[in-house]
Amino acid sequence: MKAGVTQRQIRKVVQLIEGSGMRAFIKVGAERTIIGAVGSQERELNPDSLNALDGVESVTPILSKYKLAAREFHPQGSQIRIGDAVFGGKEIPLIAGPCSVETEKQFLKTAEEVKRAGAKVLKASLFKPRTSPYEFQGLGREGIQLLKKASRLTGLPVETEVMDVRDVLPISRQVDAIRIGARNMQNYDLLRECGKAKVPVILKRGLSATVEEFLMAAEYILAHGNPNVILCERGIRTFETSTRFSLDVGAIPVLKQLTHLPVIVDPSHAAGKSSLVGPLAKAAIAAGADGLMVEVHPHPEKAWSDPLQQLTPEEFKSLVHQLKSVAHAVGRSI
Ligand code: PEP
Ligand code: MN
Repeated sequence: MKAGVTQRQIRKVVQLIEGSGMRAFIKVGAERTIIGAVGSQERELNPDSLNALDGVESVTPILSKYKLAAREFHPQGSQIRIGDAVFGGKEIPLIAGPCSVETEKQFLKTAEEVKRAGAKVLKASLFKPRTSPYEFQGLGREGIQLLKKASRLTGLPVETEVMDVRDVLPISRQVDAIRIGARNMQNYDLLRECGKAKVPVILKRGLSATVEEFLMAAEYILAHGNPNVILCERGIRTFETSTRFSLDVGAIPVLKQLTHLPVIVDPSHAAGKSSLVGPLAKAAIAAGADGLMVEVHPHPEKAWSDPLQQLTPEEFKSLVHQLKSVAHAVGRSI
């Protein structure tokens, strides 16, 4: 409370706290009075309503706003499975595949190659969130059979992005995981629908989202019934233009402290350039990432989307080899 607070002002604060089902504790110091609110009804008590009362200097929520995502409520990290790949354990599974599923030949070839190089999940985008409406928008629903075929042939589970609320449940029944792209991180209808899906959701961080906004987006999915959310840092917008986005390496340990959810990293979209993908991937693993998502194409120069940042199967293979030593150095394995 502010200096010089009156008994009447204190009473008002206590009334609001108790009215929401919590208990109020008053501590009168030599100069300041502090009022503590304790209980499990904090959802009922908006800190701003307290802040609006006369005599209140500041309100400090002790518990985080995201109850289900917060590590304080689940000190043990969560392990989330996509097929046989476990995210959040000692092993670091790699998700790999092309930016877009283009043709049967291109996709099956990529699937085979990434499997051989050690990938544990196939990245398979059918719906592409493109900046320009004139660019390739993805094969759409028709491509789903191709995903299943690649998964059957390689034995790898497959994940795909969903952009439309109407696609979430039908698509989720045909794949092993669904992905929410960066541009949809705050599409709350989409997040709510993902809560009903029975498969894990890979949630990518928005281009300009803070860590707290990212975690609140995950909270939506958790609060609507799906406990299996994997967070993916993929670079944020900054003033820097030499990379496509600035990979927020710091967000990896920050997220690991704040949440029990696994944190993976997409170095490809952050880099924007194939020569930068490897160093960013290594940094991610060194910083504690629980997985990686890497774009691989048999002929990047001919790719229908993101040709500059996709690795050739050879490059991917050599990267996996290098990543093994980085993982080993931080007590993990690939
Ligand atoms: C992707 O992973 O295919 C993609 C479009 O990335 P982002 O949503 O992070 O831009
Ligand atoms: Mn891409």
